[in-house]
Amino acid sequence: MAILQIREVSKSYGRIQALNKVSIEVPEGSVFGILGPNGSGKTTLLSIILDVLAADSGSYNWFGEGSSPDIRKKIGSLLETPNFYHYLSAVNNLKITHEISGRGDAGPAIDSVLKQVKLFERRNTKFSTYSLGMKQRLAIAAALLGGPKVLVLDEPTNGLDPVGIIEIRQLITALRNQGHTIIIASHLLDEVEKICTHVAILKKGVLVTTGNVDEVLIDEDAVELSAADNSRLFELLREFAGIKNLSKENAFVYATFQKGGVNLEEVNRFCFNNGIILNHLLLKKQKLETRFFELTADVHENPL
Ligand code: ADP
Ligand code: MG
Repeated sequence: MAILQIREVSKSYGRIQALNKVSIEVPEGSVFGILGPNGSGKTTLLSIILDVLAADSGSYNWFGEGSSPDIRKKIGSLLETPNFYHYLSAVNNLKITHEISGRGDAGPAIDSVLKQVKLFERRNTKFSTYSLGMKQRLAIAAALLGGPKVLVLDEPTNGLDPVGIIEIRQLITALRNQGHTIIIASHLLDEVEKICTHVAILKKGVLVTTGNVDEVLIDEDAVELSAADNSRLFELLREFAGIKNLSKENAFVYATFQKGGVNLEEVNRFCFNNGIILNHLLLKKQKLETRFFELTADVHENPL
């Protein structure tokens, strides 16, 4: 079932068209990445589906029911870092956040969300003593108050150090395992590839492609090889059938094949039978970084 259906949503800011007829379907239980470079319209799209901003045209539909205050309660969001009080603890900040949202006494929910984001041990220390990663986790805890089914997160790892990034990514995966659907905007291909099940790629407000991460981001197998004489190896591999692309970089020769289209034993035997003994042979799933950059690069940059 689609938890969110976006149909032909467009939005302009004056002369800048931020979104151009974007249609996306978010399946229930997915971690859905909205992927695109800065300025591609990700925040605009999230603002629209959260009712923070009105679209010029098009529509969207949550849980197959349109949008209403009741439905909004099933959605937790983190669009920009909320203003927490520096001199208050995590617990007291969440109490205030909850009161502001007008949902009454948060009660045990606060302990529960603090446990979810692994801040329970630090619940009574001042916000000002938290690392950036902890602050971001507290923001996610705030989004989790009220028990939403869906979380919408805009670039949740921005500005964090590597440890903070890993913690947020683990948290997102854990939340998914608990049954949440998570929509996350990111400009990092690597991030989407690591934590998302589905992706939509935006380029200057236009949807380039959408689908399963496996289908959209990975469509070839890369094989890394080396031998005593890599130049000879390179020349020999030119004759091996099925190679889409062959290159020589540093200590390795790289050959790419259609996904599932390579048999390492055959490669090995072919080299051996032609007098080359491999000292390295490794199959790698190829992330389509090059294709991502092609998809999102400015082919025709219009000078203003
Ligand atoms: P992203 O989140 O992918 O970086 P945004 O949705 O923030 O992209 O922005 C999309 C485009 O809309 C950009 O060209 C940006 O400069 C422009 N834009 C965003 N917000 C505004 C605004 N409030 N006023 C004018 N232009 C805006
Ligand atoms: Mg943004």
